[in-house]
Amino acid sequence: MELDIKLGYLCNNNCVFCLNKDKKFLSVYPKERIVREIEQVCSRGCEKLVISGGEPLVSPIFWEILEFARSKKINVIEIQTNGRMLSKIEVVEGLKRFEPLAFLVSLHFPSKEEYLKYCNSDGFEEVIRGIKNLISYNCDVTVNTVVMRPNLHRLENLLKLLISLGVKKVNYRFIDGKNVMEQYERFVPRFRECSKTLKKLIEKYSSKIKISLNEFPPCIFPEEFIKYFSPWDPGRINLTIRGESLTTRKILEEQFVYPPKCEWCKYRFMCKGIRKEYHYFYGDDELAPIT
Ligand code: SF4
Repeated sequence: MELDIKLGYLCNNNCVFCLNKDKKFLSVYPKERIVREIEQVCSRGCEKLVISGGEPLVSPIFWEILEFARSKKINVIEIQTNGRMLSKIEVVEGLKRFEPLAFLVSLHFPSKEEYLKYCNSDGFEEVIRGIKNLISYNCDVTVNTVVMRPNLHRLENLLKLLISLGVKKVNYRFIDGKNVMEQYERFVPRFRECSKTLKKLIEKYSSKIKISLNEFPPCIFPEEFIKYFSPWDPGRINLTIRGESLTTRKILEEQFVYPPKCEWCKYRFMCKGIRKEYHYFYGDDELAPIT
C-alpha cells in the first residue's frame, strides 16, 4: 500500500502554473492528522510513503514527520521537492541519516531567467546545487519536469543540462491546467505537440538517461513507447486538504474523464484518461484508442 501526505502548502517558490495555487491558505497541515494517517496505513502495511507540499523542506513539521515515518516499517520514503533547500549541504547531510530515501526534484526550465519568470524566484542556481549535492552523496534522484507550452521548446536544453549534471532519471509530467484556466492555451500544449517533442527526446537520449512519462494518454504515442509510462497505484491513499483519505482512483474520477471512444482501448487499465479541462478546451480528436 502507498500513502501520499502533504505537509501543507507553504512554499519558497510561487510558480505561475502551481497545481496547489488555490490551497495556499493551508500553509501547515495539522501534524496529529498526518501522524494518525501514517500510523493507520502502516498498520496495514505501507510500502511507499510520499512526502510533498507545498515545499516539504521548508515546512516546520518536516523533520518530525520524517523521523516518525522512519520509525515505521516503510520500504520507500519519497520526498517531492523543488530542490532549493538541498543547496545547503547540512540539509542533505541531515537527510542522509534517514536513508533509504528517494528524491523527486522539480525543474522545468534550463535557465535562471525562465525560472524567475515562471517560478517567481531566484532559485535556479540553488536547485542546480541541490541536484549536484544529492548526486555527490549518492542519493536516489529523479528530476520531475512538468511539460507545458512555455518549456516545450526548451526540454532538449534542459535534458542536456540534467545529463551534464549526472542525473540518471527524468520524469515528464503533463501540466495540470486547472489553475491556469484564464490562460489555458498559453500554458497547456496539445498532446500532439508533446508527443512529437518527447518522442524525439526519447529516441535521442534514452540511452543516456532513463525517461518516464506521466499523465499523458498512452495512445498519443506509438505503441512501442508504452514502456516509458510510469506505473501508478490506483489504490494509493492520499490525505486531502479536507482531511479525508481518498484513493488515487477516487481523486482521478473527479479530475479526469474517459471519452466514449476509450471504452474498448486496451490501455485503459493503465491510462488515467484526460483532464476534464483539456477535454473542455481541446476535445478528444487526438486520442487514438488501441483496440
Ligand atoms: S483509454 Fe482513452 S485516453 Fe487512454 S490510451 Fe486509451 S484511447 Fe487513449
